[in-house]
Amino acid sequence: MLREMAEFHEITQTAPITVAEHGGRAKCLQRLVRLDLPVPQTVAISFDTVHQIAAGHRLDTDALLAVFGEAPLVSVRPSSEDPDWGGPGAILNIGMNDDRHAELVKTQGQDVADRLYRRFVQTFAIHVARLDPDMFDGQKPLAEVLDAYEDETDEAFPQDPGYQLHMVLRSMARAWEGTTARLLRQAKGAPADAGLGLIVQRMAFGIGAEESGSGVIQFVDPTTGLPQITGRYMSQSQGRDALAGDGGVLYLTRDPRGPSLEEQCDTAFKELIEAGKVCRTKLREEMQIEFTIEAGHLHILDAVRVQRSSRASVRIAVELAREGVISKEEALLRIEPRALSELMHSQVDPRGKRDRFARGIAASPGAASGKLVFSSAAAQASAARDEACVLVRQETQPEDIRGMHAANAVLTVRGGVTSHAAVIARGLGLPCVVGASDITLRSRDGVLVTADGRTLNEGDLVTIDGGTGEALMGEVEMLPPAVDDCFSALLSWAEELGGMKVRANADTPDDARTARRFGADGIGLCRTEHMFFEGDRLTVMRETIFADEETDRRAALDQLLPMQREDFVRLFQIMEGLPVCIRLFDPPLHEFMPRDRSGIRAMAEALDLPISQVTRRIEALSEFNPMLGMRGVRLGVLFPEIYEMQARAIFEATIEAGERGRLVEPEIMIPLVSAMREVELVKNSVDAIAVAVHNQTGAEFKYKLGVMVETPRAALRAGDIASHAAFLSFGTNDLTQMTYGLSRDDAGRFMGAYVQQGVYPEDPFHTLDLDGVGELLLIGVQRAREAQKDVVISICGEHGGNPESIAFCQDAGVDYVSCSPFRVPIARLAIAHAVL
Ligand code: PEP
Ligand code: MG
Repeated sequence: MLREMAEFHEITQTAPITVAEHGGRAKCLQRLVRLDLPVPQTVAISFDTVHQIAAGHRLDTDALLAVFGEAPLVSVRPSSEDPDWGGPGAILNIGMNDDRHAELVKTQGQDVADRLYRRFVQTFAIHVARLDPDMFDGQKPLAEVLDAYEDETDEAFPQDPGYQLHMVLRSMARAWEGTTARLLRQAKGAPADAGLGLIVQRMAFGIGAEESGSGVIQFVDPTTGLPQITGRYMSQSQGRDALAGDGGVLYLTRDPRGPSLEEQCDTAFKELIEAGKVCRTKLREEMQIEFTIEAGHLHILDAVRVQRSSRASVRIAVELAREGVISKEEALLRIEPRALSELMHSQVDPRGKRDRFARGIAASPGAASGKLVFSSAAAQASAARDEACVLVRQETQPEDIRGMHAANAVLTVRGGVTSHAAVIARGLGLPCVVGASDITLRSRDGVLVTADGRTLNEGDLVTIDGGTGEALMGEVEMLPPAVDDCFSALLSWAEELGGMKVRANADTPDDARTARRFGADGIGLCRTEHMFFEGDRLTVMRETIFADEETDRRAALDQLLPMQREDFVRLFQIMEGLPVCIRLFDPPLHEFMPRDRSGIRAMAEALDLPISQVTRRIEALSEFNPMLGMRGVRLGVLFPEIYEMQARAIFEATIEAGERGRLVEPEIMIPLVSAMREVELVKNSVDAIAVAVHNQTGAEFKYKLGVMVETPRAALRAGDIASHAAFLSFGTNDLTQMTYGLSRDDAGRFMGAYVQQGVYPEDPFHTLDLDGVGELLLIGVQRAREAQKDVVISICGEHGGNPESIAFCQDAGVDYVSCSPFRVPIARLAIAHAVL
């Protein structure tokens, strides 16, 4: 007897029930009992016992049933630690046999008694005796179902309730330990040895006299999180029939279209509403309640957390905190930082159908539909006709910027998370999938062929889901963005907690405005070469890079200067005194080379040179490994006049902004440094320009000079470098590329396979590699701070917006992260999580 007492417990207010031993459902039921809600009598069986049952132990089920008194009918349900891990389906009406049936015929009538018994025999036959479901489907008369059971098993249907319960428990325990079930729950994050508890509960009859039935109810909309009573109720039903069935379904609240539970059974309905309120305040959560009404009386069988979209999660958490039900800190912790991206962009409605034609890397979140176009010109033509389009390219080049601006979404066959298309799309807030290598693009023929042989033509409607990395056929249902008061409240609570600051990577006035909208603390990286990706500006930029002679270069720079100055003035104005960190040019040459004939022709026209000469010059400049070639500070050292022009533009813009009432102290940043001498050279020339501008204008201004740590050597030599710099910013995109020796532009081709085979746990361009790149970062921070304790340290690679990497940076003592504007809220919440 002692042994059995420990193996199961009646769920009372004081019984020793824990999630770790009995599962979440058992614990939740105890909470409902403690709240005095009308929960039918319930017994919980522990994980341990269930495990022993699976191994052959026979529980004293007669003793268990005795808890419920004389000849009870009971149900059994699973109770795992996390409800998302699933479990075997509920089995109802255990205890039904010929005697109980005969009694019920007298009290409830033949029909009700037959239905209850038949249901039990059917479920038992299929789920416990594992007989062919086809033999037991449908509404056969009870006698036929009993005969079928006997025919199939050569035994009469078991009549002993204790034996019935034993068989049910054993089959559920074994089902949980089966390989398929284990793999399924492990896929949802369950540990290999996750336990199963079982709940035995007295049946409340949803079938019988007066108003009887069963249903589920919840008090918020699972998609928006707004208060709304939703659910289903079905008269004369049991279990979750209401969710599956059509006939007999009543509306919950009064409805002109038909009868409702509210009218049919007002008292039970009011009790349900009260129960919802009690759950919300005492369980501190929006719950879905499973209930049964038995002859007008309410029974609450179970309550589970309402399944919800990300936007609903935010609204529910914020409203609970506003009402004082939970603390602000808890509200923050309840939201996954990444989930916020769903609120900032349109989403594919999860309730709709998806017909996927390509899969790649989810490079920029959100979703959009439009007609397929295969060139930037076609994208622009589409935009001119006010037609939404999706730009598909092998990979994007600077010429495609206009097309990307015009398109509603972008899909590329090549590329990884830091390739050109990905970086630009994130900046523009444009849904983007890159590296969709399973499609073949034949732009000239205007067709795209999918892996399964379907041909799509230019003009066909498709949808890009940048959150999942999928391209879908047709135009699918969307949910609009939800940047609302709850979203803002959550972010302001996150900010109150302190921790690292969050700046945005912003190159254009549009980016800067988005950064402000999402509450950035400044601009942490303005990639100045990105200001020249468009139209005539691209040509001038190319003239600068391709100029053979210094005089040609200076002529081109004279054209660039006023453009740069005006750009900076606009940025300073939009940022209203918040810090702005401007990076001197870092144009990997291959990103600025014209590659096709029309680009070369345009270049020849602009430079007034024969095509052959332009082609020769391109060949002369072409590099085997442009990402490691004439980039960043190397350009500044070889052609000082380029950075001098930029410094002048920054200082003149600073003075102009000051005259317009905006006091600015610009931060100037040198890219791709690997040696201290590079810093000294650039610093000398920038300082000299500052003096010159001061002498010419008489204006006073301040500025800060900093260095990007993007090469392993710069990280190792961070001590020397910090003594010449006001700040250091880790460019973890290049630092990752160089630490791994992994090309940013080519990694997409094998990254999927590498991650799948566990070579890398994740794409290191996406989540900072803490062991390698992270160690370099720690070394860099430590050496820099030893040399200059006040040096400001930040990271501005894509990892600046990645929650796991952010937690690492917070611990490493980084002062701020900088990420694309649309990731600012995610970073802010991730920092709050790291602080809490
Ligand atoms: C980096 O390398 O991390 C960085 C921010 O610079 P870019 O991506 O422009 O090379
Ligand atoms: Mg870089």
